[in-house]
Amino acid sequence: MTRILAIANQKGGVGKTTTCVNLAAALAAMKRRVLLVDLDPQGNATMGSGIDKYELEQSVYDVLVDSAPLASVVQRSPEGGYDLLPANGDLTAAEVELVGTEHKERRLAESLTGCEGRYEFVLIDCPPSLNMLTLNGLVAASGVLIPMQCEYYALEGLSALVDTIQAVARSVNPALQIEGLLRTMYDPRNSLTNEVSRQLQEHFGERVYRTVIPRNVRLAEAPSYGLPAIQYDGKSRGAQAYLALAGELTRREQEAAVAAESVVAAEPSMESQNHVS
Ligand code: ADP
Ligand code: MG
Repeated sequence: MTRILAIANQKGGVGKTTTCVNLAAALAAMKRRVLLVDLDPQGNATMGSGIDKYELEQSVYDVLVDSAPLASVVQRSPEGGYDLLPANGDLTAAEVELVGTEHKERRLAESLTGCEGRYEFVLIDCPPSLNMLTLNGLVAASGVLIPMQCEYYALEGLSALVDTIQAVARSVNPALQIEGLLRTMYDPRNSLTNEVSRQLQEHFGERVYRTVIPRNVRLAEAPSYGLPAIQYDGKSRGAQAYLALAGELTRREQEAAVAAESVVAAEPSMESQNHVS
């Protein structure tokens, strides 16, 4: 089964792209088959994956607007070990061009059907707004991973995102859930960080990942070399944190599978109880 995760937060600079690139590389390092979808016209995930956004013959724009087949646009990240559906500034026009087309919020979802089996994880790097591109990401996904900095206004922005996720779940994509909240650029010496972190856990409980991503200069340097931090400096605290996150994510997945199995195993006895009554 393919798990499709949208990495979303309408706030810019919270670590969406850093998380997308490094989680993709960490899952790939664990021998998982991963596709990274760059859905941001800035093309930062594309550049950070070692693909030059100025040299693209085709991009995610062609997939969304002209229904170009995924396989003809996907490229391999040279060092990352995962596949990439790249983006560049062309994508800015997509929103306008999709106006009036049918199912414009389902374009990405439709183009991803058929890649089941080829990938175990699809990670979607959303742009920093709740626009049609992000909506395409949320409609295609089964889970949303929300990176956030533990600062004062972070919680305020979160409610608009949660409202949007709930609206998408009520209308077009009932399967959509908040997969988890990831604390990024984490600094435990900052008392505000600890306070916001506490409020997050109070509100979202288990959905807050135990793994936190520390502020680490290696994570900021790696993209300028077109490398995920794991390849740039695998021993760095940043790289290690994303490896830990990949571990937590796959562990949760296994726990969910075991729980689902035990529900299936428990069903016959429930059925026989029903017969008795
Ligand atoms: P977004 O995609 O949400 O806009 P980015 O992932 O591009 O955010 O991160 C914003 C900036 O912060 C980038 O320059 C990135 O290199 C840097 N950055 C992200 N996460 C970290 C971190 N944990 N430690 C240090 N710098 C980080
Ligand atoms: Mg970004």
